[in-house]
Amino acid sequence: MPAHAFSSLPPRHSGSLYRGRFAPSPTGPLHFGSLLAALASYCDARQVHGQWFVRIEDVDSDREVPGAAEDIFQTLRRYGFHWDAETPRQSTRGTQYQHALNTLIDKGLVYPCSCSRQHLQHAPLGASGERVYPGSCRPASGTAIPFKNHETFAWRLRVPETPRFFTDRVQGEQTQHLLSECGDFILKRRDGFYAYHLAVVVDDIDQGITDIVRGADLLALTPRHLWLYECLGHPPPRYLHIPIAATPEGQKLSKQTRAPALPENPLPALSAAWRFLAQPQPSQSFSSLGAFWDWAIAHWNQNAIPRVISLPAPFDIT
Ligand code: GLU
Repeated sequence: MPAHAFSSLPPRHSGSLYRGRFAPSPTGPLHFGSLLAALASYCDARQVHGQWFVRIEDVDSDREVPGAAEDIFQTLRRYGFHWDAETPRQSTRGTQYQHALNTLIDKGLVYPCSCSRQHLQHAPLGASGERVYPGSCRPASGTAIPFKNHETFAWRLRVPETPRFFTDRVQGEQTQHLLSECGDFILKRRDGFYAYHLAVVVDDIDQGITDIVRGADLLALTPRHLWLYECLGHPPPRYLHIPIAATPEGQKLSKQTRAPALPENPLPALSAAWRFLAQPQPSQSFSSLGAFWDWAIAHWNQNAIPRVISLPAPFDIT
């Protein structure tokens, strides 16, 4: 275990080789879109007797809604989820993120950047609509960085020259050329906040996560995460990206698109999420939440999940 490893989770080899997680951001109550990720990651883990953790991703504390994290746990409990541990919130893990950043600085992979937003406004756009960092502050490789923490700089990770490939368990073969898609990306912002990319990878490494099941809106970001795993010298997890639920206008269901909180009664919403993921249909309805979960865990079938990035959310849920 690395020195900065998280110690209070059940040990990695306590009879389970699968460790999954659900990682909601506390920006509001859980909605149908979040339920899909929770349901899929839970069934995928439990079917193979794996462990499943819940991690509150509050690295960007500006976006946190007070009380949202407690509300998320309450809803998960009401919906019948059982987690092996609640992992530490990202807001408590700055030391670990800085430690990883320092490791990357020592390897010559991260450098300070003083570019302003204005400076980048004419940078070319990548395929996903982001500005591609043109490398203005990138030092020649091998240049030593004389400091590791400085308030006037953001910190960027050098991306590789060659395209990266990976196979998603549902979405299949993926390839991305990070240099032309996003360029060297930020791991720590100038205001001192660590980027989601760094936090999620460091957490998943420290918590021994072997399998990541999440929404396909994050598929295009996964090559960045894989590059971070490589730079940190750690084997990557397996990935499974499920379709996200879209509003009638084609936007992702989210707090911004005013997705309603999950209903009080869990069974209809769980059944709708199950159908959305095109899972095998039961021959009769469930008399209890426990009966639903037993059946769902036994019948979960990753091969049935539609291989698309998004699908319309069921009309009665939005
Ligand atoms: N916190 C992210 C979200 O709520 C999920 C990140 C992940 O699963 O890797 O969208």
